[in-house]
Amino acid sequence: MSTLAILGGGQLGRMLALAAIPLGVEVRTLDPVAGAPAATVSTLTVGALDDLAALRKATAGADVVTYEWEGVPAGPVRALVAEGHAVHPSPDALEVSQDRVDEKTTFRALDIPVAEFEAVDDRTGLDRALERIGRPAILKTRRGGYDGKGQAVITTTADAERAWGELAAGAPLILEAMVPFDRELSILAARAVDGEVRTWPLVENDHRDGILRVSRAPAAGVDAQLQALADAYVRAVLERFDYVGVLTVELFQCGDNLLANEMAPRVHNSGHWTIEGSRTSQFENHVRAVMGWPLGDTASVGPAAMVNCIGVLPEPAAVLAVPGASLHRYGKAPRPGRKVGHVTVVAGSPAELDRRLTALRTVLPADIG
Ligand code: AMP
Repeated sequence: MSTLAILGGGQLGRMLALAAIPLGVEVRTLDPVAGAPAATVSTLTVGALDDLAALRKATAGADVVTYEWEGVPAGPVRALVAEGHAVHPSPDALEVSQDRVDEKTTFRALDIPVAEFEAVDDRTGLDRALERIGRPAILKTRRGGYDGKGQAVITTTADAERAWGELAAGAPLILEAMVPFDRELSILAARAVDGEVRTWPLVENDHRDGILRVSRAPAAGVDAQLQALADAYVRAVLERFDYVGVLTVELFQCGDNLLANEMAPRVHNSGHWTIEGSRTSQFENHVRAVMGWPLGDTASVGPAAMVNCIGVLPEPAAVLAVPGASLHRYGKAPRPGRKVGHVTVVAGSPAELDRRLTALRTVLPADIG
């Protein structure tokens, strides 16, 4: 029996476990919450993700350790490596993904375009950065922000004051130029231990209030050149870290150009469609990669879309009556702003996908998608 320990037991850990089970991989998870989504499909250790003793307990005897949350502190993860654990992806990738300045500096060093940015450590530093970068700009916490939290748009001088007031406590900060993007895309790829890389088609992502609402794959109107550019960027990041597992890079499309916004060293919400929409899901390929096994085919089975269920779940029978629709509930109590499930729709053509999405919307609560 092979054993995989996952640091984090949220919905990503749950879907990783659901992909690992048919492969005969026994899954252990570590999460601070006893009723975490992965609890029903893995052996859960309840403990803090920054507590080395808890990490040791959850990973004891595991063949491989991975993570489903990029907030796991790199220090304890490095300690596991020093104690002889195989940990994938590399703690270096984890650490860089935790700091927006390090992330953008890494992209730049790989010749991957990014928005103009500057580290901001104090109030005068903010004025200096605004002077150079101009307005509009976005002030963000360098660490710990997610789903649009910990950021403020600065257009006027009064905005700068307000943004500083809101975010100073979360310093260190980063100021980024506001990118007038056409749309947001993401590129997901898996890299195996032997260096083999497979990418999925570019995904188009619609956000509202900083939270991902809908992903479509493939993104409409992507030509071979744009896909090749995204593939080259994600490959460059994978090679840089001698990465093993699934990596996601979030991108802004501006005409024929792509700017990298951030990377996630893990499976990603914008890849949930791959469970039904791809020959091999992001979850299975992550498991295959970290266990040292060959990757599966990442070709799509048809155009697909994923709608997040945020704060509220739809009626299962109504969703499942929509042709091509699959429902995933994470076992989380509904709360405003909380991702509690998703629906994937797969079709035979883009037009059929649109028809099915229209049918789906009639049965989703008004504030979903
Ligand atoms: P993030 O936490 O960096 O993923 O930002 C959340 C969302 O804010 C992104 O998905 C974009 O919609 C928007 N955003 C973040 N940074 C920028 C930027 N530099 N320019 C324009 N929009 C941005």
